[in-house]
Amino acid sequence: MAERFDRIWHNARLATMRADRPDLGEIERGVIAARGGHILYAGGAADFPADADAIERIDCEGRWITPGLVDCHTHLVYGGNRAHEFELRLKGASYEEIARAGGGIVSTVAATRKASEAELVASALPRLDALIGEGVTTVEVKSGYGLDAETEMRQLSAARSLGRHRPVAIRTSFLGAHALPVEADGDKDRYIDLVCKEMLPAVAKAALADAVDAFMEGIAFSAEQTARVFEAARVLGLPVKLHADQLSNLGGAALAAKFSALSADHLEHTDEAGAAAMARAGTVAVLLPGAFYFIRETQKPPVEAFRKHGVPMALATDCNPGSSPLTSLLLAMNMGATLFRMTVAECLAGVTREGARALGVLDEAGTLEAGKWCDLAIWDIERPAELVYRIGFNPLHRRVWRGK
Ligand SMILES: [Zn+2]
Repeated sequence: MAERFDRIWHNARLATMRADRPDLGEIERGVIAARGGHILYAGGAADFPADADAIERIDCEGRWITPGLVDCHTHLVYGGNRAHEFELRLKGASYEEIARAGGGIVSTVAATRKASEAELVASALPRLDALIGEGVTTVEVKSGYGLDAETEMRQLSAARSLGRHRPVAIRTSFLGAHALPVEADGDKDRYIDLVCKEMLPAVAKAALADAVDAFMEGIAFSAEQTARVFEAARVLGLPVKLHADQLSNLGGAALAAKFSALSADHLEHTDEAGAAAMARAGTVAVLLPGAFYFIRETQKPPVEAFRKHGVPMALATDCNPGSSPLTSLLLAMNMGATLFRMTVAECLAGVTREGARALGVLDEAGTLEAGKWCDLAIWDIERPAELVYRIGFNPLHRRVWRGK
């Protein structure tokens, strides 16, 4: 008797994004068969049994299927709105004037502390829906706008509950070491103590974080302070990632590599030694062209060095109210190509396979392969390059999450 599947998608063209195939791992006459939410077959029609039975057969009419997209770096959950600050800045207001008018990260922290969990979820859902509407099936969400144990945990809990409101996989990162709260009165070391000894253990105990992140920068925390956070994460068995080398080269990429970080993110100022260290550690370079564009950076990440050393590159929105109010992974791909000169294959791998690798979920998502979740994006396009080439256009035909 022939094997019975839940669903079969046939007459499709597949961009499998498998690492063991060249380019996009394309299959011209492709079939995907799923059962129980998992892919059981993703390959050529010629090798698929013609008599295979399924509850539902879907004729894709020659459309392209990619893995469901992965946005591996977002600050999706926050309170407040910074559009007014943008308006003031365009009128020539200085940083100090904006701070005096209640702007900056301080304003987001204040608004996030004031918001209930339900309010945080409600304000994040339209942003999440924008991502989902472009075929995103896995989203990472960071805390970092609470900067006290209670609010950081509420932010992470709100992030987790997004996955109960929408059919999407949510991965959370605890980013207590994002900025110094006003009440710390300039004492970064004492605040890092609080992060390591109180906030992080409480977050870990409540199982609210899948990873631990930090912001290592002149305006944030030093290498020594970051290392303390990473040591504390290691003791609790949590993987780490890092906002590294965005505005200056403090050796963030090398520090992330030293702690075998899942990813180092931003990396505009990373040097070749940092790239080589990341390659040795298997740390993914997460590039965030939305922030580069929005704050009008000129220093580009060392894409050539990442290629030379074989560092996997991911692309993400960095969706946040201060430096990247971006909720389009398609636009992030276009920016990766136009601003950073990434190839079409690099951009597509960046929002699928390498995004999944940056979250430590490559064994369950990110490529079209038997055994992985059946997370698919089905596109009305003639060739995959259109997903990178077009600006402000969404050719998503259907999105499939866990086989549905
Ligand atoms: Zn970020």
